[in-house]
Amino acid sequence: MRYRKFIADHLFTGSQLLDGQVLITDEKGRTEAIIPAAEAGDEVQPLSGIITPGFINAHCHLELSHLKDVIAPGTGMIDFLLGVMGRRFVAEEQVLPAIDAAETAMLQNGIVAVGDICNTPHTIPQKQRQRLYYHNFIEATGFVAATAQARFDAAVATWEQFQAAGEAITGRNSIVPHAPYSVSAALFELITGFPGNHLLTMHNQESVAEDEFFRTRQGDFNRLFEALGINISSLPDFRTFGPSDAQIGKSSLQTCLPRFRAGQSLLLVHDVMTSEEDLQFVQQARQALPDCYWCLCPNANLYIGNGLPDVELLRRHGATIALGTDSLASNHQLSILAEINTLRQHYPALPLAELLQWATLNGAKALNIEEQFGSFEKGKTPGVLLLKNDLSEVKRLI
Ligand SMILES: [Zn+2]
Repeated sequence: MRYRKFIADHLFTGSQLLDGQVLITDEKGRTEAIIPAAEAGDEVQPLSGIITPGFINAHCHLELSHLKDVIAPGTGMIDFLLGVMGRRFVAEEQVLPAIDAAETAMLQNGIVAVGDICNTPHTIPQKQRQRLYYHNFIEATGFVAATAQARFDAAVATWEQFQAAGEAITGRNSIVPHAPYSVSAALFELITGFPGNHLLTMHNQESVAEDEFFRTRQGDFNRLFEALGINISSLPDFRTFGPSDAQIGKSSLQTCLPRFRAGQSLLLVHDVMTSEEDLQFVQQARQALPDCYWCLCPNANLYIGNGLPDVELLRRHGATIALGTDSLASNHQLSILAEINTLRQHYPALPLAELLQWATLNGAKALNIEEQFGSFEKGKTPGVLLLKNDLSEVKRLI
C-alpha cells in the first residue's frame, strides 16, 4: 500500500499541537500513524503552516443559502427572524443553485461534516452526492399547543423523506425543536418522545430579547408574536409555551431543559445569554438532563447584532464547545476558520489548540461521529487540512 506522509510547522491531532511529527495516512486519508520525523523515512511532504483534521460545522441551515446578503446586518433578533420567515419559502429553482454553491464553499473551506437544520427536503439531492457528511436536524416550530400534533406530523413527513433518501442520509436524521420561545410544551413532548430521537439540537439563548421574554414576559419578543398574529395573553395555553407563573424569573434554558430526557444528547446553539447560574443548573441537575454540548456561531451573533457569548465563562465551567456557521442569512461565509479567527480577535488569550479542538474533535463528539471524524487516530478518515499564513488560509490536502 502507498502511504502519504506530511510534516508542517505544527501538527494538530484533534486535541494537541505537536512539533516535529509526521502524519501518515493511506491514499484515501485513513490515518495510519503519527511518528517522529526521524523515523518517517522517505517521501515526507514538507509544508508550511499547521496540519489539522477537517473542520466540523456543527450548526448550519444549508437550505437558507439563497438568503445570502438579503437581510441587512445589525437588525437585531426580532427583525432578523421576521426577515427569514418572510423569505424562506421560495421556488426550488432559486434555492438549489444556492445550496450547491454554499456546499462547494464549505468543501473549499475545509469542512468535512455538518449539523444541518432542515425545514424542507430541498437539500436532499445535494446531500445524495455525498461530498460532505451531514446529520440532518428536521426542525419543528409551533407556538400554539392546539397545533402541536399537526406541526409534529409535518416534521415527521419531512423526516421520512430524508430517511428514504438513500444510504448516505438514512439514519442520520433527528426531529428537533427550533427554540424555547417557538415550541409549545405539547410539541416539545412529541419531539423528545419520538422513537430513536437521541441526537438533538436547539437554538439557545441567542438574544437579550429571548432572555427578557422568559424572565419577565416583557420586551421585543412581544413584537414578534404580534407580527405573527399571536395574542399571547389571550391564549388559553399560553403557559404551555411561555414560562408558567412559577417559572417567571428563570432563564429560557432553565425553563425548557427539563423537557428533554436524560440519555439524550443536546447541542445548544449560540449561548449568547447563558449565565453562570445556567451552567450551574446544568451541572447540578445533570443526572436528569440530556448531555449538553455548546455550539458557538460568533459571526452570526455579530451579524444579527446579538453580541458574543461569554466564552471564558463557558470554559471555566468545562463546557464542551463546538463551532458552527449558522446560515448565509446571517453570515458572509460558511467557514469554520472565519469563526475561529473572530474568536481569536475577540478573545486573544484563548489557546490555539483549544480553539482547533472546538472546530474538530468537539464538533465530531457533538454530532456523535467521533469514530470517523475530528482527530488523527488510527483508522479514522477525518480529512487533512493545512492552515497557512497565520490561519488566514485553509487548503485541503485530502
Ligand atoms: Zn441557526
